[in-house]
Amino acid sequence: MYSIGPLTCAPGERAEGLIPVGTSTYGVELGIPLIVVNGTQPGPVLCVDAGVHGDEYDGQEAVRRVVAETDPASLRGTLVGIPCMNTPAFEAAARSSGLDHLNLNRIFPGDPEGSYSLRLAATFVEQVVPVIDALVDLHTGGTFGEIAPLTIVQAGYEDLASGIGLAAGHELIWKGGKWGGTVRHPTLAAGKPAVTIEVGGATYREENVELHVVAVRNIMRQLGMVDGEPGLRDSYTAVTGTFARSASGGFFVAYAEPGETCKGGDPIAKVVDHYGHTLEEISAPQDGIVLWVRRMRTVHPGDEVVIFGAVEGEIRP
Ligand SMILES: [Zn+2]
Repeated sequence: MYSIGPLTCAPGERAEGLIPVGTSTYGVELGIPLIVVNGTQPGPVLCVDAGVHGDEYDGQEAVRRVVAETDPASLRGTLVGIPCMNTPAFEAAARSSGLDHLNLNRIFPGDPEGSYSLRLAATFVEQVVPVIDALVDLHTGGTFGEIAPLTIVQAGYEDLASGIGLAAGHELIWKGGKWGGTVRHPTLAAGKPAVTIEVGGATYREENVELHVVAVRNIMRQLGMVDGEPGLRDSYTAVTGTFARSASGGFFVAYAEPGETCKGGDPIAKVVDHYGHTLEEISAPQDGIVLWVRRMRTVHPGDEVVIFGAVEGEIRP
Protein backbone atom coordinates (compact mmCIF):
# COMPACT_ATOMS: atom_id res chain seq x y z
CA MET A 1 0.00 0.00 0.00
CA TYR A 2 1.35 3.42 -0.97
CA SER A 3 0.42 6.43 1.19
CA ILE A 4 0.82 10.12 0.42
CA GLY A 5 -0.96 12.81 2.42
CA PRO A 6 -4.48 11.52 3.15
CA LEU A 7 -4.43 9.16 0.12
CA THR A 8 -3.72 5.46 0.10
CA CYS A 9 -3.36 3.39 -3.07
CA ALA A 10 -3.10 -0.39 -3.24
CA PRO A 11 -0.80 -2.07 -5.82
CA GLY A 12 -2.48 -2.13 -9.23
CA GLU A 13 -4.85 0.71 -8.29
CA ARG A 14 -5.32 4.44 -8.92
CA ALA A 15 -6.25 7.12 -6.40
CA GLU A 16 -6.91 10.86 -6.55
CA GLY A 17 -7.54 13.59 -4.04
CA LEU A 18 -6.23 16.67 -2.30
CA ILE A 19 -3.52 17.20 0.30
CA PRO A 20 -5.21 20.00 2.27
CA VAL A 21 -3.36 23.28 2.78
CA GLY A 22 -6.14 25.70 3.74
CA THR A 23 -9.56 26.98 2.76
CA SER A 24 -10.72 29.78 0.48
CA THR A 25 -12.78 32.70 1.82
CA TYR A 26 -15.87 30.90 0.52
CA GLY A 27 -15.08 27.75 2.48
CA VAL A 28 -13.73 25.52 -0.27
CA GLU A 29 -10.82 23.29 0.67
CA LEU A 30 -7.56 24.31 -1.06
CA GLY A 31 -4.52 22.11 -1.43
CA ILE A 32 -2.33 20.01 -3.67
CA PRO A 33 -4.34 17.82 -6.12
CA LEU A 34 -2.77 14.39 -6.59
CA ILE A 35 -3.33 11.50 -8.98
CA VAL A 36 -1.53 8.30 -7.95
CA VAL A 37 -0.91 5.21 -10.08
CA ASN A 38 0.55 2.38 -8.01
CA GLY A 39 2.27 -0.38 -9.98
CA THR A 40 1.99 -4.07 -9.27
CA GLN A 41 5.76 -4.50 -9.10
CA PRO A 42 8.36 -2.79 -6.90
CA GLY A 43 10.16 0.29 -8.22
CA PRO A 44 10.79 3.95 -7.49
CA VAL A 45 8.20 6.61 -6.72
CA LEU A 46 8.35 9.32 -9.39
CA CYS A 47 6.49 12.58 -8.75
CA VAL A 48 5.69 14.76 -11.77
CA ASP A 49 4.36 18.21 -10.96
CA ALA A 50 3.18 21.17 -13.02
CA GLY A 51 1.43 24.45 -12.33
CA VAL A 52 3.93 25.79 -9.79
CA HIS A 53 3.37 28.87 -11.94
CA GLY A 54 -0.37 29.13 -12.60
CA ASP A 55 -0.04 30.59 -16.11
CA GLU A 56 1.99 27.63 -17.44
CA TYR A 57 -0.54 25.23 -18.91
CA ASP A 58 1.18 22.70 -21.18
CA GLY A 59 2.75 20.75 -18.31
CA GLN A 60 -0.53 20.59 -16.41
CA GLU A 61 -2.19 18.78 -19.31
CA ALA A 62 0.94 16.63 -19.81
CA VAL A 63 0.75 15.38 -16.20
CA ARG A 64 -2.87 14.30 -16.66
CA ARG A 65 -2.03 12.52 -19.94
CA VAL A 66 0.99 10.65 -18.62
CA VAL A 67 -0.95 9.51 -15.56
CA ALA A 68 -3.99 8.46 -17.63
CA GLU A 69 -1.82 6.51 -20.07
CA THR A 70 0.16 4.68 -17.36
CA ASP A 71 -1.14 1.16 -16.78
CA PRO A 72 -0.69 0.10 -13.14
CA ALA A 73 -0.64 -3.56 -14.22
CA SER A 74 2.68 -3.11 -16.03
CA LEU A 75 4.16 -0.28 -13.90
CA ARG A 76 7.18 -0.87 -11.66
CA GLY A 77 6.96 1.54 -8.75
CA THR A 78 4.53 4.41 -8.32
CA LEU A 79 3.71 7.50 -10.36
CA VAL A 80 2.46 10.53 -8.44
CA GLY A 81 1.02 13.27 -10.66
CA ILE A 82 0.48 16.80 -9.33
CA PRO A 83 -1.33 18.42 -12.29
CA CYS A 84 -1.57 21.84 -10.66
CA MET A 85 0.56 22.62 -7.61
CA ASN A 86 -0.43 26.27 -7.28
CA THR A 87 -4.23 26.29 -7.70
CA PRO A 88 -4.69 29.93 -6.54
CA ALA A 89 -2.22 31.06 -9.23
CA PHE A 90 -4.05 28.96 -11.84
CA GLU A 91 -7.35 30.50 -10.76
CA ALA A 92 -5.78 33.95 -11.20
CA ALA A 93 -4.31 32.87 -14.60
CA ALA A 94 -1.05 34.26 -13.26
CA ARG A 95 2.49 33.24 -12.44
CA SER A 96 2.03 34.05 -8.75
CA SER A 97 -0.74 33.29 -6.30
CA GLY A 98 -3.71 35.63 -6.20
CA LEU A 99 -3.90 35.05 -2.43
CA ASP A 100 -0.51 36.44 -1.36
CA HIS A 101 1.20 37.36 -4.66
CA LEU A 102 4.25 35.22 -3.87
CA ASN A 103 6.19 33.35 -6.55
CA LEU A 104 5.95 29.76 -5.27
CA ASN A 105 9.14 28.77 -7.10
CA ARG A 106 11.31 31.08 -4.96
CA ILE A 107 10.01 30.33 -1.47
CA PHE A 108 10.63 26.62 -0.83
CA PRO A 109 10.91 25.13 1.79
CA GLY A 110 8.13 27.53 2.83
CA ASP A 111 6.78 28.14 6.30
CA PRO A 112 3.87 26.23 7.94
CA GLU A 113 2.95 29.43 9.84
CA GLY A 114 3.14 31.70 6.78
CA SER A 115 0.71 32.86 4.10
CA TYR A 116 -0.95 30.34 1.74
CA SER A 117 1.98 29.94 -0.70
CA LEU A 118 4.44 29.45 2.19
CA ARG A 119 2.12 26.85 3.74
CA LEU A 120 1.76 25.14 0.36
CA ALA A 121 5.55 24.86 -0.02
CA ALA A 122 5.90 23.58 3.55
CA THR A 123 3.15 21.01 2.99
CA PHE A 124 4.96 19.73 -0.12
CA VAL A 125 8.23 19.43 1.81
CA GLU A 126 6.59 17.70 4.80
CA GLN A 127 4.14 15.38 3.07
CA VAL A 128 5.39 14.76 -0.49
CA VAL A 129 9.21 14.86 -0.47
CA PRO A 130 9.59 12.07 2.16
CA VAL A 131 7.44 9.62 0.15
CA ILE A 132 8.93 10.12 -3.35
CA ASP A 133 12.25 9.04 -4.88
CA ALA A 134 12.53 11.52 -7.78
CA LEU A 135 10.85 14.71 -8.98
CA VAL A 136 10.17 16.10 -12.44
CA ASP A 137 8.87 19.68 -12.40
CA LEU A 138 7.21 20.86 -15.64
CA HIS A 139 7.19 24.53 -16.67
CA THR A 140 6.83 26.84 -19.68
CA GLY A 141 8.17 30.33 -20.32
CA GLY A 142 4.97 31.76 -18.79
CA THR A 143 2.72 34.61 -19.83
CA PHE A 144 5.62 36.97 -20.40
CA GLY A 145 7.90 34.91 -22.61
CA GLU A 146 8.77 31.80 -24.53
CA ILE A 147 11.59 29.40 -23.67
CA ALA A 148 13.56 26.93 -25.77
CA PRO A 149 13.05 23.28 -24.79
CA LEU A 150 15.58 22.65 -22.04
CA THR A 151 16.18 20.82 -18.78
CA ILE A 152 17.39 22.54 -15.63
CA VAL A 153 19.90 20.47 -13.68
CA GLN A 154 20.83 22.35 -10.54
CA ALA A 155 24.55 23.22 -10.41
CA GLY A 156 26.16 21.31 -7.56
CA TYR A 157 23.73 18.40 -7.90
CA GLU A 158 24.89 17.07 -11.28
CA ASP A 159 25.78 13.63 -9.87
CA LEU A 160 22.31 13.25 -8.38
CA ALA A 161 20.14 14.74 -11.11
CA SER A 162 21.94 14.30 -14.44
CA GLY A 163 20.55 10.80 -15.02
CA ILE A 164 16.93 11.93 -15.23
CA GLY A 165 18.01 15.31 -16.65
CA LEU A 166 19.59 13.75 -19.74
CA ALA A 167 16.71 11.29 -20.09
CA ALA A 168 14.35 14.27 -20.45
CA GLY A 169 15.80 14.36 -23.97
CA HIS A 170 16.36 18.09 -24.53
CA GLU A 171 19.74 19.04 -25.93
CA LEU A 172 20.10 22.12 -23.73
CA ILE A 173 20.98 21.47 -20.08
CA TRP A 174 20.72 24.69 -18.08
CA LYS A 175 22.99 24.57 -15.06
CA GLY A 176 20.51 26.66 -13.11
CA GLY A 177 20.79 28.94 -11.35
CA LYS A 178 22.00 31.13 -8.55
CA TRP A 179 18.54 31.61 -7.07
CA GLY A 180 17.19 29.19 -4.48
CA GLY A 181 13.74 28.37 -3.24
CA THR A 182 12.56 26.28 -6.18
CA VAL A 183 10.64 23.02 -5.74
CA ARG A 184 13.87 21.27 -6.80
CA HIS A 185 15.89 22.55 -3.86
CA PRO A 186 14.27 20.72 -0.89
CA THR A 187 13.98 17.55 -3.00
CA LEU A 188 17.67 17.62 -3.96
CA ALA A 189 18.59 18.49 -0.36
CA ALA A 190 16.76 15.30 0.69
CA GLY A 191 19.10 13.35 -1.61
CA LYS A 192 16.52 12.77 -4.35
CA PRO A 193 17.03 13.61 -8.04
CA ALA A 194 14.93 16.56 -9.19
CA VAL A 195 14.90 18.46 -12.49
CA THR A 196 12.79 21.15 -14.11
CA ILE A 197 11.80 20.83 -17.75
CA GLU A 198 10.89 23.96 -19.70
CA VAL A 199 9.26 24.41 -23.09
CA GLY A 200 7.01 26.97 -24.74
CA GLY A 201 5.21 29.94 -23.28
CA ALA A 202 1.84 31.45 -22.56
CA THR A 203 0.17 30.06 -25.66
CA TYR A 204 -0.89 26.48 -24.99
CA ARG A 205 0.41 24.28 -27.81
CA GLU A 206 -0.23 20.58 -28.34
CA GLU A 207 3.35 20.07 -29.57
CA ASN A 208 4.67 21.39 -26.25
CA VAL A 209 2.32 19.17 -24.25
CA GLU A 210 3.67 16.26 -26.29
CA LEU A 211 7.32 17.27 -25.64
CA HIS A 212 6.59 17.17 -21.89
CA VAL A 213 4.81 13.80 -22.20
CA VAL A 214 7.70 12.28 -24.18
CA ALA A 215 10.24 13.61 -21.65
CA VAL A 216 8.40 12.12 -18.66
CA ARG A 217 7.91 8.76 -20.38
CA ASN A 218 11.61 8.62 -21.21
CA ILE A 219 12.52 9.40 -17.59
CA MET A 220 10.20 6.56 -16.51
CA ARG A 221 12.16 4.24 -18.83
CA GLN A 222 15.45 5.50 -17.41
CA LEU A 223 14.18 4.76 -13.88
CA GLY A 224 13.10 1.26 -14.94
CA MET A 225 9.42 1.95 -14.24
CA VAL A 226 8.28 0.96 -17.74
CA ASP A 227 9.85 -1.19 -20.45
CA GLY A 228 12.19 0.22 -23.07
CA GLU A 229 15.54 1.96 -23.28
CA PRO A 230 15.72 5.69 -22.57
CA GLY A 231 16.56 7.37 -25.88
CA LEU A 232 19.60 9.38 -24.84
CA ARG A 233 21.29 11.85 -27.18
CA ASP A 234 24.91 11.37 -28.17
CA SER A 235 25.69 14.81 -26.85
CA TYR A 236 24.08 17.60 -24.79
CA THR A 237 25.00 21.28 -24.46
CA ALA A 238 25.47 22.68 -20.94
CA VAL A 239 24.60 26.37 -20.60
CA THR A 240 24.43 28.96 -17.87
CA GLY A 241 21.82 31.70 -18.08
CA THR A 242 22.27 35.47 -17.98
CA PHE A 243 19.18 37.66 -17.58
CA ALA A 244 19.04 40.86 -19.63
CA ARG A 245 16.71 43.54 -18.28
CA SER A 246 15.49 46.67 -20.01
CA ALA A 247 16.39 50.09 -18.66
CA SER A 248 13.59 51.77 -20.63
CA GLY A 249 9.88 51.25 -20.56
CA GLY A 250 8.14 51.00 -23.92
CA PHE A 251 7.14 48.57 -26.66
CA PHE A 252 9.37 45.50 -26.87
CA VAL A 253 10.51 44.18 -30.27
CA ALA A 254 12.54 40.94 -30.45
CA TYR A 255 14.72 39.84 -33.38
CA ALA A 256 15.79 36.47 -31.99
CA GLU A 257 13.82 33.31 -31.31
CA PRO A 258 14.23 30.92 -28.37
CA GLY A 259 16.91 28.35 -29.18
CA GLU A 260 18.70 30.57 -31.71
CA THR A 261 22.49 30.76 -31.52
CA CYS A 262 23.97 34.25 -31.38
CA LYS A 263 27.37 35.90 -31.44
CA GLY A 264 28.46 38.47 -28.88
CA GLY A 265 27.18 41.88 -30.04
CA ASP A 266 24.39 40.51 -32.24
CA PRO A 267 21.24 42.65 -31.95
CA ILE A 268 18.61 40.65 -30.05
CA ALA A 269 15.84 43.12 -29.31
CA LYS A 270 14.92 46.77 -28.96
CA VAL A 271 12.53 48.93 -26.99
CA VAL A 272 10.68 51.65 -28.91
CA ASP A 273 8.32 54.42 -27.87
CA HIS A 274 4.82 54.97 -29.27
CA TYR A 275 6.26 57.05 -32.13
CA GLY A 276 8.67 54.28 -33.17
CA HIS A 277 11.84 55.93 -31.87
CA THR A 278 14.34 53.43 -30.49
CA LEU A 279 14.88 53.93 -26.76
CA GLU A 280 17.21 51.03 -26.17
CA GLU A 281 18.88 48.20 -28.06
CA ILE A 282 19.68 44.87 -26.46
CA SER A 283 22.56 42.87 -27.89
CA ALA A 284 24.02 39.48 -27.02
CA PRO A 285 26.59 39.85 -24.20
CA GLN A 286 28.63 36.91 -25.53
CA ASP A 287 28.47 34.05 -27.99
CA GLY A 288 25.77 31.65 -26.96
CA ILE A 289 22.17 30.56 -27.26
CA VAL A 290 19.01 32.59 -26.72
CA LEU A 291 17.12 30.60 -24.05
CA TRP A 292 14.06 32.78 -23.33
CA VAL A 293 12.61 35.74 -25.16
CA ARG A 294 10.01 38.17 -23.88
CA ARG A 295 6.69 37.90 -25.71
CA MET A 296 4.76 40.48 -23.68
CA ARG A 297 5.13 43.70 -25.68
CA THR A 298 4.59 46.02 -22.74
CA VAL A 299 7.95 46.48 -21.04
CA HIS A 300 8.82 48.43 -17.89
CA PRO A 301 12.25 49.43 -16.62
CA GLY A 302 13.89 46.41 -14.98
CA ASP A 303 11.72 43.81 -16.72
CA GLU A 304 13.34 40.63 -17.97
CA VAL A 305 13.60 40.79 -21.75
CA VAL A 306 15.95 37.97 -22.75
CA ILE A 307 17.78 35.10 -21.05
CA PHE A 308 21.06 34.29 -22.80
CA GLY A 309 22.74 30.94 -22.42
CA ALA A 310 26.54 30.92 -22.35
CA VAL A 311 27.81 27.54 -23.51
CA GLU A 312 29.69 25.85 -20.68
CA GLY A 313 30.58 22.69 -22.55
CA GLU A 314 29.38 19.45 -24.01
CA ILE A 315 27.93 16.59 -21.97
CA ARG A 316 28.33 13.08 -23.29
CA PRO A 317 26.25 10.48 -21.44
ZN1 LIG B 1 7.51 28.34 -14.45
